[in-house]
Amino acid sequence: MNFIEEIVEKDLQEKKNDGRIQTRFPPEPNGYLHIGHVKAICMDFGIAEKFGGVCNLRFDDTNPVKEDVEYVDSIMHDISWLGFHWGNVYYASDYFQQLYDLALRFIREGKAYVDEQTAEQIAQQKGTPTEPGQNSPYRDRPVEENLRLFEAMQAGEIPDGKMVLRAKIDMANPNMHFRDPIMYRIITTHPHHRTGRRWNVYPMYDFAHGQSDYFEGVTHSICTLEFVVHRPLYDYFIDQFADDEPSLSPWGKGYRPHQYEFNRLNITYTVMSKRKMLQLVKEGLVAGWDDPRMPTVCGLRRRGYTAQAIRSFIDKIGYTKVEGMIDLGLLEHTVREELKEKAPRVCAIFDPVRLVITNYPEGQKETIVAENIDGKPELGTRQLPFSRELWIERQDFLENADKNFYRLSPGGREVRLKSAYIIQATGCEKDADGNITTVYATYDPDSKSGTEGGNRKTKATINWVDADTALSAEVRLYDRLFAVENPSADERDFRELLNPDSLRVVTAKVESSLHDVKPQDHFQFLKQGYFVVDDDSTAEHLIFNRTASLKDNWMK
Ligand code: ATP
Ligand code: MG
Repeated sequence: MNFIEEIVEKDLQEKKNDGRIQTRFPPEPNGYLHIGHVKAICMDFGIAEKFGGVCNLRFDDTNPVKEDVEYVDSIMHDISWLGFHWGNVYYASDYFQQLYDLALRFIREGKAYVDEQTAEQIAQQKGTPTEPGQNSPYRDRPVEENLRLFEAMQAGEIPDGKMVLRAKIDMANPNMHFRDPIMYRIITTHPHHRTGRRWNVYPMYDFAHGQSDYFEGVTHSICTLEFVVHRPLYDYFIDQFADDEPSLSPWGKGYRPHQYEFNRLNITYTVMSKRKMLQLVKEGLVAGWDDPRMPTVCGLRRRGYTAQAIRSFIDKIGYTKVEGMIDLGLLEHTVREELKEKAPRVCAIFDPVRLVITNYPEGQKETIVAENIDGKPELGTRQLPFSRELWIERQDFLENADKNFYRLSPGGREVRLKSAYIIQATGCEKDADGNITTVYATYDPDSKSGTEGGNRKTKATINWVDADTALSAEVRLYDRLFAVENPSADERDFRELLNPDSLRVVTAKVESSLHDVKPQDHFQFLKQGYFVVDDDSTAEHLIFNRTASLKDNWMK
């Protein structure tokens, strides 16, 4: 049980909120969800599931400049794909009228004022945590004037940036968030994706979030640690009206939502910020939000991560109150753990060279039966055509090899073709540039795997695919997106820190059993790693993405 679950359990025992548990996941629809959001999702939805409560989805759509329905749709799709179910879908924009009315109430009670200073002037007067700030010259405007100006702001009579509505709290408060925080700003440049041109003023996060929780009846409002310093303000704003306006919440007098915080997820070799991800997308540094190198949910999915692997990773890292950095290796380890158990093994030759078995009769064909996963006959078998000409990996043949080379070399050792026969190299052919074009070998007809002769051991086993029936496939070899462990802590611009080798593309020869694969099918390419069929893959143009290499550095 994590520390927030312990709090919830105790609240239930004490019958707080009449035993009601209600959480929310509150994304701003200004980008696609990333794996950091998944940590919050697993917490918000997980608490509701575990304690018989409800988790609602609330879009925190208070800034029309950056928000869009494209993001709303993708967020809902990703949450469902992860396997979570929300109760209701709410939008902060549904509360614009109530929030505006509350702002008027604050003004009438002398708790808010319209400030005409620039953002820079306001920032200069903020002071520092150890020095008090200075009052704005507009702080003591009469209520009537504040009302008139705020209404003029909403009426579209005031240009963007010329005025803001600020809470009149305390410019000397040791908590900087209490130094007359901005409640409302003017935005007329962009229509809102849901309310269109209805509003010219929009509430700031601090004036919208707690109230939204309150209107909906949230009991446990869970977020990340950077909001700890906002919590007193969250409580302050609600306390100013809650007991006088029972109609704003159906949960009765005394009801209050409470905010709890846990540590954000940060992972090495990536960035965890929608703003930076948007930059990568807009500048074409990645192929899109779902580029398999992106830490987005759709990127991870396209990379071959399953919802189960992502959720199991979140389980492993847990929730604390200390910020830290998680090793990317742990995420890769988690997906390997799952795919190891279920991904069928297949052969894909990345750098093919032709192998001719000179003593195998021309025109003869046979079928090799191989287990999908060695040693797990219950997972079925597949049929591999076999004939005189095959593709093998170029690196599995050396013309002049020493004793330590166990694979193919003329006059060298016996080598087993995976699931098939034992062969021995006899020579090779080269083109004018000296590149090997064909390797020659002979096979032992009595050495077939699965027969008595199949038990004969060799030092090496190599991969192959039948040349006649092999398919060509585009294979995208993805690696970590950034070359440095913590791009966000680096003084250089994060875009200069991209790993130049994060994508290498090869054209592979793959076995014919892959002719009818579908996007999201998972495979282990023997000796190569875990691969998934890309969303753009078709029967005519097969595309596989590398999910993870085979080697696991994490366990060391
Ligand atoms: P970003 O900084 O990437 O834009 P954000 O916090 O602005 O993220 P929101 O859409 O506001 O994005 O986040 C919705 C919820 O997801 C919030 O409750 C937030 O605390 C949580 N969240 C965002 N990033 C992380 C993270 N890296 N780890 C855990 N939770 C996160
Ligand atoms: Mg945010």
